[in-house]
Amino acid sequence: MTTTPARLTVLAGPTAVGKGTVSADVRSRYPEVWLSVSATTRPPRPGEVDGVHYLFVSVDEFDRMVERGDLLEWAVVHGRNRYGTPRRPVEERLADGKPALLEIDLQGARQVRDSMPDAHFVFLAPPSFAELERRLVGRGTEDAEERERRLSTARVELAAAEEFDQVIVNDDVQRATDELVRGMGIPTR
Ligand code: 5GP
Repeated sequence: MTTTPARLTVLAGPTAVGKGTVSADVRSRYPEVWLSVSATTRPPRPGEVDGVHYLFVSVDEFDRMVERGDLLEWAVVHGRNRYGTPRRPVEERLADGKPALLEIDLQGARQVRDSMPDAHFVFLAPPSFAELERRLVGRGTEDAEERERRLSTARVELAAAEEFDQVIVNDDVQRATDELVRGMGIPTR
C-alpha cells in the first residue's frame, strides 16, 4: 500500500470571489476536510461565531501571537484589519496524516509558499471582473468606501492567478468545491 503524505492546500483569491462561500460548502458537504480557523482583529459580523468562523482577538492579543511566532502567516488585509493562521493546529493536523485547508488572502498565500513550498496552491477566480463587482455590491456588508478599497485590492489580486498551481473558476459553488476537494485527493459525492 502506498501512502501519500497529507498535504496542505491553500485557497486564495480576490475579495468577494466567494472563498467564504466555498469554505462554508466544504464545511457542510465534506466535514472530513479540516479547515483552519484564522485569528483576526476585525469585529464579528452578525452570525459569525468565535472559534468557528474566526478567533476574534484584540490588537494586543494579535501582537502577542506574532511575537511568540504562533502564526504560520499573517497579513493586513484591505489596509485595515489583521488576519493570521495559527501554526500549531495546522502542523498537528498534517503530522496526523490528515489533509488541511487554509482560506487566506494572497499575501498570506505567498508567505506560506515561502515556508511550505510543497503545499498545493489554489486560486479561486471569478467568471469576470464585472461579476466580482456585482457580488461585492450584492453582499451589502461593506460601505462604499470599504467596497472601493476591496475592489482596488481585487484588481491587483486577479493578476496573481498565474502564481498558483491550480485555478478554479467560481461559476457554481458546488462545482468549485468539488474541484477543490478532488485536488485534495478526496472523492466527491
Ligand atoms: P473577511 O473580513 O471578509 O472575513 O475576510 C477578508 C479577507 O481576509 C479574505 O480575503 C480572507 O481570505 C482573508 N483572510 C481570512 N483569514 C486569513 C488569514 O488567516 N490570513 C490571511 N493572510 N488572510 C486571511
